[in-house]
Amino acid sequence: MNYQNSRITEVAELLRQRFATLEVKADLLKAVELKALYAEIPTLAAEDRAAFGGELNQLKQELLDLINASQEAAEALPALDVTAPFDINSSRPQLLPTTSGTVHPLTREIQRVADIFGRMGFEISESREIDDQYHMFETLNFPKGHPARDDYDTFMTVQTDKDGEPLIAPAHTSTMQNRVLTAGKAKLEQGEAIAVVIPDRVFRNEDLDARHEHTFYQVEGVYVAKGVHAGMLVATLQTFLQEYYSETLGGKELDVRVNPFYFPFTEPSFEFALSCPFCDKKGCNICSYEGWIELLGCGMIHPNVLTAAGIDPTVYTGFAWGCGIDRLVMMKYGIEDVRHFESAKLEFLRQFS
Ligand SMILES: [Zn+2]
Repeated sequence: MNYQNSRITEVAELLRQRFATLEVKADLLKAVELKALYAEIPTLAAEDRAAFGGELNQLKQELLDLINASQEAAEALPALDVTAPFDINSSRPQLLPTTSGTVHPLTREIQRVADIFGRMGFEISESREIDDQYHMFETLNFPKGHPARDDYDTFMTVQTDKDGEPLIAPAHTSTMQNRVLTAGKAKLEQGEAIAVVIPDRVFRNEDLDARHEHTFYQVEGVYVAKGVHAGMLVATLQTFLQEYYSETLGGKELDVRVNPFYFPFTEPSFEFALSCPFCDKKGCNICSYEGWIELLGCGMIHPNVLTAAGIDPTVYTGFAWGCGIDRLVMMKYGIEDVRHFESAKLEFLRQFS
């Protein structure tokens, strides 16, 4: 809008610019410049007052219109099809005002886990959210009909793979082992080690309770070279856990306990427990009064798994592990229920901001 009076034009321009920067838009009407113009009216010559006052009221109306329009825009965010290409949504999405947005605690901890392994010389890779049975089972030494396949309560799709078998939402990050080994074979031949960790999301058809969730995170680790033995596996995991819990431990040493276990894709296989960092093995509610916490499964990579990736198991050996990240984080912060992570409860999430 154009105004005849130059002072009103000047203030109008100033207030239009200020409007964009105001957090509370209605504060625009309290501007001292506007009040000063109103205060001027009684000082004007009688014949000028009506014109000046009229324009001033027009300016006030313009500002009111601006404020109302911005409130309507904030209340009526455009419906947005998030699956559509960007230009289908005619305007840019309006961002809701926020002063407390933060990274999800699991995302932040995954970054910490990746950072520690990165400093230990591991490459970081990603998993996928749908995979085939070949990578979920066959390459991991679960041939067709192997009873251990039933131990994995997987989600399957109606769609089938090239072998006519349903696709799977991976139940563990180990589905990536064959790809990591195949891709790293050339490195081995150049005398380097394959050293990769894969932190990503996995899915199980679980009965949900405080310790079981249908969607959770694992960090897979794979290390292959010449002369790798189980002592290196234990040392690697111990070093990682010592660093991950360094703040909780305050300089104390973690104890680890390695018990024999069974997995088709490692031989020998172990269950890896660490001394409870909260009670120093005395027993507390976080460790179920056992003093130890079973954290992950691991072992020496089965020769059949190496062979499936074209690596000669008589020349190279390696170890692998799969560790539940949710469990690590729950222990670190004393979180009592795994379901909090996927609940989108703000009162839970804000404790980590
Ligand atoms: Zn304890």
